[in-house]
Amino acid sequence: MEIPYKIYLEENEMPKYWYNMRADMKNKPAPLLNPGTHKPVTFDELSHVFCDELVKQELDDTTAFFEIPEEIRSFYRMYRPAPLVRAYCLEKKLGTPAKIYYKFEGNNTSGSHKLNSAIAQAYYAKKQGLKGVTTETGAGQWGTALSMACAYFGLDCKVYMVKVSYEQKPFRREVMRTYGATVTPSPSMETEVGRRILEKHPGTTGSLGCAISEAVEKATTSKGYRYVLGSVLNQVLLHQSVIGLETKAALDKYNIKPDIIIGCAGGGSNLGGLISPFMGEKLRGESDVRIIAIEPASCPSFTRGTFAYDFCDTGMMTPLAKMYTLGSDFIPSPSHAGGLRYHGMSSTLSQLYHDGYMEAASVNQTDVFKAAEYFARIEGILPAPESSHAIYAAIEEAKKCKENGEEKTIVFGLTGTGYFDMVAYEKFHDGKMDDSVPSDEELKKYADMLPKVE
Ligand SMILES: *Cc1c(COP(=O)(O)O)cnc(C)c1O
Repeated sequence: MEIPYKIYLEENEMPKYWYNMRADMKNKPAPLLNPGTHKPVTFDELSHVFCDELVKQELDDTTAFFEIPEEIRSFYRMYRPAPLVRAYCLEKKLGTPAKIYYKFEGNNTSGSHKLNSAIAQAYYAKKQGLKGVTTETGAGQWGTALSMACAYFGLDCKVYMVKVSYEQKPFRREVMRTYGATVTPSPSMETEVGRRILEKHPGTTGSLGCAISEAVEKATTSKGYRYVLGSVLNQVLLHQSVIGLETKAALDKYNIKPDIIIGCAGGGSNLGGLISPFMGEKLRGESDVRIIAIEPASCPSFTRGTFAYDFCDTGMMTPLAKMYTLGSDFIPSPSHAGGLRYHGMSSTLSQLYHDGYMEAASVNQTDVFKAAEYFARIEGILPAPESSHAIYAAIEEAKKCKENGEEKTIVFGLTGTGYFDMVAYEKFHDGKMDDSVPSDEELKKYADMLPKVE
């Protein structure tokens, strides 16, 4: 069968259910803990922070399939199905016998996969009758996606944007405002926790963990508001399973079984979504697909972090999650893959990694941008720096196939476009990109500060 350059599903072939990998895991991810009592958090505790329906999804380790509400499916149809592209041009250029596919999630204004969960979270907030939601954003992709989703459902959207990005990335900030969101640079004087952080670290350029603390405080102290998070959480991986389900449906049409699946990992949502149905097969003993997470060398949660309970934010307001973490006080060097600058990792992926179901590797910035530019010149798409971590690894695997004469099928997630990252590309072109990597001493310092949990 001739495989087209792009495999598109029909609209009526799009998934009607999200798939929850946790249902097939024998070792479930460890429960979130109340930071005061160290007991598993209850529905009531979480529902002060998050929307009710999302809390149910968060805590549900056993239901395999959740029906996607029709309103969300109808929004998905505005920009999905996303194409699964056979990278014929890249294969030819590399001269590899490997077959390379990528799932392209950049075909929407927000420019990344994040809209898949943003629209779901906004829908449940609206259904609960809330006035609005608060959130944080790093480079701005999540804030952009959420502001689009909130505009669609007529919800107020308050975004705390990491200060360095607020200043360096005015374009995404303005996209958010175009969709009606209020954007505040974080840390700010608007919240108690922001003031505390500024006092302790005057002149800080902020971090995701710190912006999360501010957004949580704002939500829990404003009537009719809840907090929403764009990655890390189980519910987000659930919504992002639409990526993997579409990918699998497209591959199944041509009887293709992937040998290797690669994704970049910041908090783990795109990777968790992309791999979900394939990981389900692996967990059930039906396949032995290799799964590889790629993270920046400047923020190496999987490859150099500790598998332990930690806060999800810097201000220590969120529940404790058991995950691979660099410590909630760790602030990575200002890398250009803002979406990957998070100290922790999804607890579901962390458990799977711990149990040997997936691998992880890290790569430095300059190599990422080399891969990004190489890819742009061959396949045409200008990739996001985050996505380019996966591109780098896919190219490396394809080169190995060439050396060994192996016809492996490689699938990777191309999570977004890089139009708003041209300052980073400029630094790369001018040879001004730095590749700083945290020292062992620095990582140990933060690991020693992890909360002690029995
Ligand atoms: C946010 C983002 C990521 C990383 O987030 P995950 O939750 O780890 O998927 C990757 N790529 C792009 C383009 C992003 O915007």
